Amino acid sequence: MSAFARRDGVLHAESVSLIDIARQFGTPCWVYSRQALEAALEEFQRELLGFDALVCYAVKANSNLAVLDVFARRGAGFDIVSGGELRRVLAAGANPQQIVFSGVGKSTAEMELALTTGILCFNVESAAELERLDMVARGLGKTAPVSLRVNPDVDAGTHPYISTGLKENKFGVAYQDARALYRQAARLPNLRVTGIDCHIGSQLLDPAPFAEALDKILALLDELAADGIVLHHIDLGGGLGIRYRDEEPPTVHAYLQPMLEKIGQRRLQILVEPGRRLVGNAGVLLTRVEYLKTGDAKNFAIVDAAMNDLARPALYGSWHDIVPVVSGPATSIPWEIVGPVCESGDFLGRGRELALADGDLLAILSAGAYGMVMSSNYNSRPRAAEVMVDGSAVHLVRRREEIEELYALERRLP
Ligand SMILES: *Cc1c(COP(=O)(O)O)cnc(C)c1O
Repeated sequence: MSAFARRDGVLHAESVSLIDIARQFGTPCWVYSRQALEAALEEFQRELLGFDALVCYAVKANSNLAVLDVFARRGAGFDIVSGGELRRVLAAGANPQQIVFSGVGKSTAEMELALTTGILCFNVESAAELERLDMVARGLGKTAPVSLRVNPDVDAGTHPYISTGLKENKFGVAYQDARALYRQAARLPNLRVTGIDCHIGSQLLDPAPFAEALDKILALLDELAADGIVLHHIDLGGGLGIRYRDEEPPTVHAYLQPMLEKIGQRRLQILVEPGRRLVGNAGVLLTRVEYLKTGDAKNFAIVDAAMNDLARPALYGSWHDIVPVVSGPATSIPWEIVGPVCESGDFLGRGRELALADGDLLAILSAGAYGMVMSSNYNSRPRAAEVMVDGSAVHLVRRREEIEELYALERRLP
């Protein structure tokens, strides 16, 4: 994580001290590094150089307009899962022809919006959705470009909540049904079958399941060709993991190279949909210690960030490194790092060996993915500010919410 490093013992984002950011914008505060975002995207783009390929950033991982803007300027496309995300990427300057629309529950209104926008492809996840999309397209006098998201029934070996490629998951169409569904799609007058798609899960640390899934997809592609259905693109999905603690995620090269070899000479455009890998290590959550509470059983450090800000530890039991912004020589003891929310599940880290004092600043690392996007207003807590560092400049890219905004849509009884 070279974008976040110490200078004279103080943690910086690029050239900016996190102490200065806390002073200027308050805490809790999300801090992103433009350089880290660009470097992560470039690692994919470099690997795909020379191929007809498009990196479609999975917007749900971090949908701040500034993040989308950084990627759009560098030629990335986008993988969206809702009409809201479509509006966002358009607001950030995305090219409609670089947008793919995934998700199991697209509404008619969302389909209409995407059809009038003219996106690259709908990743369709069921027979019922195929029928609906054909009907909606017919109503608008349009033809919808479609891929089927095929569930290859491989075990991604990741957390059950973020594993999506097994038979029992709700995602995609069953592998054994896919061929018949493609034939059905090819017959529907307002659909144009253009691709095939597969996304097996998130935070994968082993390239093997990706290759296993691809083998099945390529076998299916050959069957489809025998049926006279020739596809234009293959979408490899997202899911490549990052380091939170001591994981050893594959390089993008080690992840993509075996798949590019398998695809070989087939004339296919290649899409990838990385989310976490592009943003996860490009962001931290900055928080301040409010109170220290030592006891016989446990020591609690109550900080001003909470599960409503970063849900992952409470939701998945995820581990994020938590480090002091100013490193000092004091002796460490184990702390439960908890927030002010009234839930025992409101923890950000457990048993962390730290030397803490009241008012200390802490950085929760690797918080750029599935952080702010999952935050809520639980306990009527305003959502935190987001800033993006670019060299020695800091841009406020989402201001902290005001309390009145939290109930502005509500009304007392007449
Ligand atoms: C969530 C998601 C992604 C991105 O997953 P990451 O693990 O963040 O890379 C890509 N494609 C689809 C369809 C998704 O739902």
